[in-house]
Amino acid sequence: MSARLDSIRSRFQQAGVDAMIVSSDENRRYLSGFTGSAGSLIITPKDAVLATDFRYVEQAGQQSPDFRVLRTMGGSDWLNDLLKELNVRNLGFESQHMTVAIHERLRDALEEGKGNSAISLVATSGLIEDLRSIKDLPEMAMLTRAIEISDKAFEEVAKTIQVGQTEKEIAWKLEKTMRELGADTISFDTIVAAGPNAALPHHRPDESVILEGQPLIIDMGARYEGYCSDLSRTLCLGQPDDMFRKIYDTVLGAQLTAIATVERGMTGGDADGLARTVIEEAGYGDNFGHSLGHGVGLEVHEQPGVGPSSQGVLEDWMPFTIEPGIYLSGWGGVRIEDVVVLENGRARVISKAPKSDKMGA
Ligand code: ZN
Repeated sequence: MSARLDSIRSRFQQAGVDAMIVSSDENRRYLSGFTGSAGSLIITPKDAVLATDFRYVEQAGQQSPDFRVLRTMGGSDWLNDLLKELNVRNLGFESQHMTVAIHERLRDALEEGKGNSAISLVATSGLIEDLRSIKDLPEMAMLTRAIEISDKAFEEVAKTIQVGQTEKEIAWKLEKTMRELGADTISFDTIVAAGPNAALPHHRPDESVILEGQPLIIDMGARYEGYCSDLSRTLCLGQPDDMFRKIYDTVLGAQLTAIATVERGMTGGDADGLARTVIEEAGYGDNFGHSLGHGVGLEVHEQPGVGPSSQGVLEDWMPFTIEPGIYLSGWGGVRIEDVVVLENGRARVISKAPKSDKMGA
């Protein structure tokens, strides 16, 4: 954790701050190791304080040895006192996370605080998220475990899927199996979308019944030690028709092309274009209405962005998804998603779930 603290401190000057207050769950956890659901980090060039309430004080002491734990009692007096003690002038806050209400409260508290008139609040954007996009080895180990769990759960459950089962039944089996395999929880609500439902990229599983010859999209993820996996596969029970084969092969071709050709130094937009071109050339450009992918880590969607307008540059040790899809209203859809990580400039595929078996295309 101390390397992460050093990294964020090294960005203070450029951000025009001499301290940061960090309150968003994932950023707080990333910098401190603290997994509690309430608390704020106050980080200065020399000091690091984890302020939390009675419920979490003991846990904070155990999980965050790099931080001085400060017990708060509600209100903002502690913050006034602390900022004064630490001589803070420009306090950076996470503009993407702080609500307007909390910002106003903080501003009022700092204005009221005696002797603190010189403290100003400075909006920062994406400082910690950018750091988080590049994973260290412990993070890669936990992410890989999360991916193994969803791969294995998919493989086990896919074998048992039968005509007549409902989407909900299958979703529950997937979730249960991930938990049995060691997941802390699921990383997002499992998607099981059969037939025409598969035309909706984020369909919620319902009582719809699995029928032969229809596309069946499964999109699932496990959370392990905070790290999120994300896996999509498309199956077809029985004999796939020509339409399914054509769409499936196009999506798979787009996905494999992107995996084989994405490189360090490209922008997320460049990477998106690798797959999009394949789908456009097949005549389905209008039917691929979402981004090619996204970073994964403590959040299931995080930096780097991998969509048509993503400007950020892809670098080694960034894991992200590659998940092209084609969706046809009334028919259904196909989406195939793996997590890759850039190593030595190229993508290594971490996901191992089978892409097709006797049920699939
Ligand atoms: Zn995804």
